[in-house]
Amino acid sequence: MADTHFGSRQVPLEDKQALVDDVFHSVAPRYDLMNDLMSLGLHRAWKNALVTALDPPKTRPFALLDVAGGTGDIAFRAAKAAGAGFRATVCDINSDMLAVGRERASARHLDEQVSFVEGNAEALDFPDRAFDAYTIAFGIRNVPRIDLALSEAFRVLKPGGRFLCLEFSTVDVPGLDRIYDLFSFKVIPPLGRAVTGDAESYRYLVESIRKFPKAGAFAEMIRAAGFSRVTLQSLSGGIVALHSGWRL
Ligand code: SAM
Repeated sequence: MADTHFGSRQVPLEDKQALVDDVFHSVAPRYDLMNDLMSLGLHRAWKNALVTALDPPKTRPFALLDVAGGTGDIAFRAAKAAGAGFRATVCDINSDMLAVGRERASARHLDEQVSFVEGNAEALDFPDRAFDAYTIAFGIRNVPRIDLALSEAFRVLKPGGRFLCLEFSTVDVPGLDRIYDLFSFKVIPPLGRAVTGDAESYRYLVESIRKFPKAGAFAEMIRAAGFSRVTLQSLSGGIVALHSGWRL
């Protein structure tokens, strides 16, 4: 059986998803608060950059699939930018993250526009060519078989559909890299312990960022899945990259 990484540990490929699921079951109730604290609010700007790139239309129907969509952040932001014909499906493998998302959707009166579905990015339960756009924010790093997730993204997009992925990347600003590493390893796990009672899940988070392919290599994987006009935009000195591709 093949191995893969779970943070800095080598684990059998078949075991990774269950370990990832434990992380998000554990952090779900305080996931959104922790995002604000550990990114110093920056995750909002990164998600807004994705929605700006998505540019959902105001005057015609538009179907978005937000995979690994967790508590719904991308879908809510896209709904705000879009017109009345906008519909988002948030698909995530974790029922606890989805439960938080459903509550947040109700509080925002977005139940009509945003629906929540449990599912695995590697084997989506949606027909071919069903969506105008596929987004995945800070999710693909957690998926054991990234190539399967990318080919599923391609399959469910309509021709002319857009793929957008936000993921942590590699800091490329001298000086910032050292501060970022210090903050990642010395501040985030203790902060995770204080806020969620779980330092280990946040250690996984910072380790998994280091294991994810470099932005150029990931762009190649997107191309290999069939996408065209693949580009990447570095955000906040390389902390995050926004990847884009089209199904043409
Ligand atoms: N997209 C949301 C955001 O930006 O706030 C949530 C991102 S959270 C860091 C990662 C999400 O990926 C978790 O909700 C987790 O359950 C989900 N996930 C992990 N593996 C998955 C898989 N194989 N299929 C679908 N979702 C998955």
